Amino acid sequence: MPELPEVETVRRTLKNFVLKKKIVSVDVLYPKIIEDDIDKFIENVSNQVINDIDRIGKFLIFKLDNTAFVSHLRMEGKYHYVDQDIPLNKHDHIIFNLDDGKQLRYNDTRKFGRMKLVSLNNYSNELPLSKLGAEPFNVDVKELYAKLHKCKLPIKHAILDQSIIAGIGNIYANEICFAMHLDPYTPACKLTKKSVAELKEVSSKILEEAIEQGGTTIHSFSANGIDGLFQVKLKAHMQKICPICGGEITKEAIKGRGTYYCKQCQKRRK
Ligand SMILES: [Zn+2]
Repeated sequence: MPELPEVETVRRTLKNFVLKKKIVSVDVLYPKIIEDDIDKFIENVSNQVINDIDRIGKFLIFKLDNTAFVSHLRMEGKYHYVDQDIPLNKHDHIIFNLDDGKQLRYNDTRKFGRMKLVSLNNYSNELPLSKLGAEPFNVDVKELYAKLHKCKLPIKHAILDQSIIAGIGNIYANEICFAMHLDPYTPACKLTKKSVAELKEVSSKILEEAIEQGGTTIHSFSANGIDGLFQVKLKAHMQKICPICGGEITKEAIKGRGTYYCKQCQKRRK
């Protein structure tokens, strides 16, 4: 699943190709991707210039002349910017025909991705964006502490909750717990204010480094064939040997998500 750094990489890459291009028309080949009335979506988005692309958490926001729409890639969503005469892939579901003769194609093998119209000037206060917590970069430590202090879930599960803190997915949740030497099963409410401040700092640093490197490429995603160009060095996620103690990395499921940690180096907070 693309995480915040990957979505940020997609945003930056897409901007290089589609900014100031006009969407001439839209072909909706798999209607479930669009959470609005299909005709309304097509009508609102057509003949509109892509003026900017924003990101909040793992949502992309395409800002057009009179409207905007959010796009969430979920598990396998990708964008491709291609010549219109290139044959469609069977997983291309939404086709934006641009005024430069190219197409921006939304491709999604799992079909879990979603798009939805939002208002141009107030989208951060509208669903689905309004329910997101702050990102690690700008979260208020006191507010984050208050949320975690009420939460009895394992910390690794709690930081995946986008209403508590936005933009952390499973890969980076594993990396953050590892970097903090924190047992992922530690109940969130056990973290002291000092640990929560550390959580903010470590999360920001890990996400920033990943953005600099262009995100991980564990699962396929691309915004114009940037697949495989980047590889973030992970220390715990999908690893076998702990880079600190040389011991074994344990893999278990917490709430169904693959959790990688070193039992030796990562301690439960009491
Ligand atoms: Zn270790």
